[in-house]
Amino acid sequence: MALSEFALIERFFSRLGASRADVALGVGDDCALLAPASGEQLAVSIDTLVEGVHFLAGTDPAALGHKALAVGLSDLAACGARPAWATLALTLPAVDARWLEGFAEGFGALAQRHGMALVGGDTTRGPLAVSVQVHGLVPAGSALRRDGARPGDRLYVSGSLGDAGLALRQRLAGKVPDEDLARRLDRPDPRVALGLALRGIASAAIDLSDGLASDLGHLLARSGVGATVELEHLPRSAGVAATGDWSLPLSAGDDYELCFSVPPGRLADLTKSMADLDVTVHAVGRVEAGEGIRWRLPDGGQLRPDGGWEHFR
Ligand code: ADP
Ligand code: MG
Repeated sequence: MALSEFALIERFFSRLGASRADVALGVGDDCALLAPASGEQLAVSIDTLVEGVHFLAGTDPAALGHKALAVGLSDLAACGARPAWATLALTLPAVDARWLEGFAEGFGALAQRHGMALVGGDTTRGPLAVSVQVHGLVPAGSALRRDGARPGDRLYVSGSLGDAGLALRQRLAGKVPDEDLARRLDRPDPRVALGLALRGIASAAIDLSDGLASDLGHLLARSGVGATVELEHLPRSAGVAATGDWSLPLSAGDDYELCFSVPPGRLADLTKSMADLDVTVHAVGRVEAGEGIRWRLPDGGQLRPDGGWEHFR
């Protein structure tokens, strides 16, 4: 890109987020130099958001900056990692100072809130796309993983499910979702503090990006177990419940809540450690031997994935 464009990148992205003592060298050189403390493992994840695929054309740049980082923070949360550093690859159709300023504001505010520093990136010209790599720190051996669920563990979901899907559905129908609902789609609040609190308590965890049906399926498959979920215990907002549509909480996705399993002997610790958090967790079912998920309806019947919600995918 041209020199003035580099000047813009320098202006907006050279000191974004928190300043951290473990960043020996940040934006501006060929590499960032980072100094993790000994005894810590690095948790790394990358996600890409493409215009027209992951977000609507014309999305507010500050909301996009927030969300591009939030999806990565949600992965760190699911691993029980403390956010540390991010890198940002931006593909832009044109260099627009006002757009960059908005994007940097949304990204920077969320990074700051989680003590995270932007330490490098790449900027290219092309159809609008944003990739963010996040790096978190976790004491060696204590990360939450997908593969530790065992028969008899209780299954939990944080927050509520289906709100982002409902907001998107309303928008696509030309309606304006109310402010709280729109926020769930545009500015998800990754459950970082919950993930940290679950270290040593949860036997397995995953974040809900694609919807509970598919993401819980991944956790169970990695753990070599199955589960029964009581649909009446799924946390749903009044608006989502009013639709009566199970596809919203089960497969619309974009929830960025955590789903996790807790062994019976850890339930008292869970209750204790949830007391200070600003998100509630809900027991929704039980891990069982075997494979697959049984979705129990409030009337005792069973919801069949092939006959119901998959048509909405
Ligand atoms: P190189 O050509 O050596 O890969 P670049 O010229 O692409 O380096 O980038 C110069 C510096 O600016 C590097 O430190 C890089 O990490 C940083 N950088 C470029 N684009 C971004 C961005 N979108 N966000 C954060 N840092 C960026
Ligand atoms: Mg270089």
